[in-house]
Amino acid sequence: MPSKTFFDPSTALDVLEQYNRLDGLSVGELMDSTVHGGLTYNDFLLLPGKIDFGAHEVITESKITRNVVLKTPFMSSPMDTVTEGDMAIAMALLGGIGVIHHNQTPEEQAAMVRRVKRHENGFITDPVVLSPSHRAEDVLDIKERLGFAGVPITDTGALGGKLLGIVTNRDVQFRDPSTPLSEVMTTDLVTASEGITLEKANTILRDSKKGKLPIVDSAGRLTSLLARSDLLKNQDYPLASKSPSSKQLYAAAAVGTRPADRERLALLAEAGLDIVVLDSSQGNSVFQLDMIKWIKATYPKLEVIAGNVVTREQAASLIAAGADALRVGMGSGSICITQEVMAVGRPQATAVYAVAEFASKFGVPVIADGGIQNVGHIVKALSLGAGAVMMGGLLAGTTEAPGEYFYHEGKRVKAYRGMGSLEAMEQGRPGPASAAAHGAAAKGKGKGQGKTHENAATTRYFSESSVVKVAQGVSGDVQDKGSVKQFLPYLYAGLQHSFQDIGVKSAQALQEGVRQGKVRFELRTASAQVEGGVHGLHSYTKRLFA
Ligand code: GDP
Ligand code: GDP
Ligand code: 5GP
Repeated sequence: MPSKTFFDPSTALDVLEQYNRLDGLSVGELMDSTVHGGLTYNDFLLLPGKIDFGAHEVITESKITRNVVLKTPFMSSPMDTVTEGDMAIAMALLGGIGVIHHNQTPEEQAAMVRRVKRHENGFITDPVVLSPSHRAEDVLDIKERLGFAGVPITDTGALGGKLLGIVTNRDVQFRDPSTPLSEVMTTDLVTASEGITLEKANTILRDSKKGKLPIVDSAGRLTSLLARSDLLKNQDYPLASKSPSSKQLYAAAAVGTRPADRERLALLAEAGLDIVVLDSSQGNSVFQLDMIKWIKATYPKLEVIAGNVVTREQAASLIAAGADALRVGMGSGSICITQEVMAVGRPQATAVYAVAEFASKFGVPVIADGGIQNVGHIVKALSLGAGAVMMGGLLAGTTEAPGEYFYHEGKRVKAYRGMGSLEAMEQGRPGPASAAAHGAAAKGKGKGQGKTHENAATTRYFSESSVVKVAQGVSGDVQDKGSVKQFLPYLYAGLQHSFQDIGVKSAQALQEGVRQGKVRFELRTASAQVEGGVHGLHSYTKRLFA
């Protein structure tokens, strides 16, 4: 038998070149829906590239709207079992952003926006100020309502008055509530002059060992305030999503597209809102187009995320109207029954790719909304061109999500419900799926019960004028996930390791590699999906991070 001749192994890379094509599929080949129909995230994988860097070197920075860049591409959904004040603050501190839901009164929603904006600052340009004749109880009241007690005292009791002293928590702690502040305030103050840079003011604050640094003009009038706790927050949360000028956390909130939503938005804007999400399951409507134009004319600095869309045609309308980003997804959410009931929607991977490919021509980022179940799905959404992912179910079981934990069949859970579920449209309290049946206490913090405002969940799903409400979502519960403060760092580290496997150092490099056909994909058959999951074990535990 003639012996087989081999190539010289040292020529392997040259031999590879002769193939003149790469393994796997380009994104265009993968997404050719004439071949196999629309794809979901589970229908494909990315092929590994070459690792020549550490996972810690990977940068996950990404653009979520025309003018907002975040250090991590994570967003939480505007749902009443996902994002209120606590979630929005935690998401922003950790480098993402939480969109505060609108299934509550405009006043309640605006108070949450204000809490986010107040949470961290550079110079506090509108500090709460009192006068010497205010009393200890006024400081305690501020502490109760706003969470801080460091209050500068001026002769007028307002910003711009002559600075006389400062009162902090310890000054009033054991005092009679009626004690005038003139008796307890500290008058020996370290101050800095108006016009000082943030860096220099921070140095003075650090060296002074005081909790606050009042900034005064040449006549001794108070112009702003600096808080030591903000230096700590800046150190503890290096990825925090902050506006570059004020160093305040970014705040995002959702509104609908009805006339009353313009009044709602006015309150949110006044509270300092940076990003508004137009919350509609089918965004290509004349109502939304009008709303985008009106917002752009009325609040030119507000970033507008329009949607939801799943086709290029829908996207084109919203881009032309002035959208700063598009939210993509229809029927892909874990609590969603739109595709089943309405027969309308699109598999999410195909939707993200189609819209992102088109929107990228105009510099408009795309947010992949719904259906994110794990880190891999996030990577896939980014590889298809998304600037960020929006998550509901994945974050609903965390400590920061609204509502209390309860036990359901032996598992510690929190309520999670679609905003198009009958429960949300009727604005019941989020709680156990059938609280009466389980005998469990429904202790969700569902806000706005009994309040008079247009039900946001109903308007999002166009059911408001119907005699019969048609549900587009379900109501259930999800398992306890612990704090977002552990969960988001897990998603972040997971993303870095995945990028390393693909051989790209950033989301930009990933998307560039995909565009150039260098980052390759493979379709997964049904049995490939079984193979890719855990299989063949008698039993196992699945711990995701430690
Ligand atoms: P970097 O920290 O150098 O990457 O850049 P930044 O723009 O984040 O910060 C510039 C300066 O502002 C530094 O001196 C920071 O310590 C300071 N800084 C950043 N965020 C805050 C904040 O929330 N409060 C205060 N007081 N200072 C901040
Ligand atoms: P305090 O010592 O009780 O005032 O509270 P901390 O200094 O621990 O926390 C104050 C936090 O609230 C900081 O992150 C500030 O940026 C923020 N904050 C927002 N607005 C104000 C305000 O008007 N006055 C004060 N003192 N803090 C504010
Ligand atoms: P998840 O991350 O749980 O898969 O999906 C969350 C997303 O589902 C939300 O951001 C929102 O776009 C969408 N969604 C929320 N509630 C409903 C609903 O009741 N019906 C439908 N069709 N989608 C919903």
